[in-house]
Amino acid sequence: MRAGSSDDPPSARALRRRLVDRFVAPGVHDPRVLMAMREVPRHLFAPEHDLERAYGDHPLWIGHDATISQPSLVGIMSDALALSGREHVLEIGTGSGYQAAVLSRLARHIDTVEVVPELARDAAATLRALGCTNVDVHTGDGWAGWPDLAPYDRVLVTAAPEVLPRALLDQLTDGGLLVVPVGSQARDQRLERWRKLGGALYKQDLGAVRFVPMVHAEPSPHP
Ligand code: SAH
Repeated sequence: MRAGSSDDPPSARALRRRLVDRFVAPGVHDPRVLMAMREVPRHLFAPEHDLERAYGDHPLWIGHDATISQPSLVGIMSDALALSGREHVLEIGTGSGYQAAVLSRLARHIDTVEVVPELARDAAATLRALGCTNVDVHTGDGWAGWPDLAPYDRVLVTAAPEVLPRALLDQLTDGGLLVVPVGSQARDQRLERWRKLGGALYKQDLGAVRFVPMVHAEPSPHP
């Protein structure tokens, strides 16, 4: 069966429920994260994959060297952000827009930055079709964060920088959280959670992960 249309048949909902209950729930504390992931039709963000594949606990290739993270990891990262529903969130690495759609149900507003214009365009169209009106997709290089709309209560990075981009910490509110996979080689990446509190920074290690690298965008040519 192909999953190319914009609908969400009962078979997709059943596969999604099974996926969340079996693979996402064991790693997640916040029931709102599970609810969001039961609702967001993951298959519509990766229309080139069939339904069975879209609802397995593995990453999905979406072209342009990008993948949607595996659902259990999307659950862990969303949970690590400790969202109450009131936050302004910055995501770096929009990709398909799937993670942003999950976050849109857990926070007040999501600004998400993607370096590949085609991915940004397609993600914006999918999010619009699904009625995610509290998500704005921006095309640009996430190494600089997105200073125009800062500060952010939460920052989530879904590509791996070799070192932590300083701009992302600078754009975090006091009391804010940044979740980011850091490492130069796929095999030594660690998921880090940073908390900014009273001007101090506290780091927590959340374990080994494997993300596509965060690229350095070419500087735009001078006219
Ligand atoms: N969160 C996405 C998956 C991210 S894959 C989803 O749910 O589908 C990582 C994404 O980060 C890719 O789309 C890649 O193009 C993007 N990326 C890599 N380097 C980047 C950078 N410097 N700035 C912004 N996006 C970047």
